[in-house]
Amino acid sequence: MKYICKYLLSLLAFIILNNSYSKQNIIQNIRTSDKPDKLTTRIVLDLTHKTAYSVFILDNKPRLVIDLEATESRKSFDLKSKLIEKIRINNNGKGVIRLVFDLKGKVFIDKNFYLKKDENNLFRLVLDIKLSNKLIKQSSKNNNIKIKKTFTITLDPGHGGLDPGAVRYSYREKDITLLAAKELKGLLEKKGYKVFLTRNKDEFVSLRKRRNIAKKNSSDLFISIHVDSVKKKSTRGTSIYTLSDKASDKVTAMLAERENKVDLIAGIDKEVDNEVFSILLDLQRRDTKNASASFAEIYVNKVRKNGYRSLRRPHRQAGFAVLKSPDIPSVLVELGFLSNPKDAKYLSNKKSRARVLKALSEAIVDYVKTRSKI
Ligand SMILES: [Zn+2]
Repeated sequence: MKYICKYLLSLLAFIILNNSYSKQNIIQNIRTSDKPDKLTTRIVLDLTHKTAYSVFILDNKPRLVIDLEATESRKSFDLKSKLIEKIRINNNGKGVIRLVFDLKGKVFIDKNFYLKKDENNLFRLVLDIKLSNKLIKQSSKNNNIKIKKTFTITLDPGHGGLDPGAVRYSYREKDITLLAAKELKGLLEKKGYKVFLTRNKDEFVSLRKRRNIAKKNSSDLFISIHVDSVKKKSTRGTSIYTLSDKASDKVTAMLAERENKVDLIAGIDKEVDNEVFSILLDLQRRDTKNASASFAEIYVNKVRKNGYRSLRRPHRQAGFAVLKSPDIPSVLVELGFLSNPKDAKYLSNKKSRARVLKALSEAIVDYVKTRSKI
């Protein structure tokens, strides 16, 4: 089995809801059984309602994640399986319960489907997970299974070409963002991450293309780098933007409408109806949004810890088009203000610029750690 994404193989599944879509779903039980082939484990969730769910595999410390529209769950389950180490349950209180199965090896999702109500009037969500062939070969050679993954980041130097961005004193935003992105790339590559840039030189790249580059590279994180500018010269310091709720809702609605919507989510069935698709997209967007916000918070803390100047309210929300990827956590970082003489000088000098870039790279390291703890 070939994995499309290095870090996150997102296989979204869905279900038509028989016109009985309800958020009052309760997880009554979770059962597992190993199949005689010794490679497959069947997971069965007993549910009071048939609701939307998404399921994906994380390769790093192999985990199976199920996000399910549900309000309640039993706290613990007695699972006995060759492939499953343990299960963790996280109820966000907002109608989605995340089940994380810690796995003993790298698997893929072989099947996932709903069975009709059983004699206890419960729906059964069935998932078959299977050890991947590659892994079977590996484990026969050596029992110590090692999973390799590379966290991938796309850095987006703002502006370029015809669009200089802010121009103040003798500095142009597009030059500073490109230099900063290249330097940050160097820092991150030293830490072992895979890094792509949306532009390597002074050229114009459309916002949509910038997002597409991130997508094409199966990025785990997208960071757009800018330098702000305002009328008030005294304003200085860094800030970080994530997509606003309003913009985010709009994106979800728009995407759901779009004809090519199926391209967005690997593995989703083309026959899925619009309503269910919106719910799924919403689940995915919620995860992306939370991840983006969590990165922003980590960055703000790093900046403060490192004594770098930030705006009074450094984490902000806006409808920037470049942040609208539904499946890649995305942030826009304003390194400082070109309109402030001190910031302008600070950011145009490689040595002083390194300080904010260090905070940014440290934030990425911390963020990667939190993601692998899911
Ligand atoms: Zn800009």
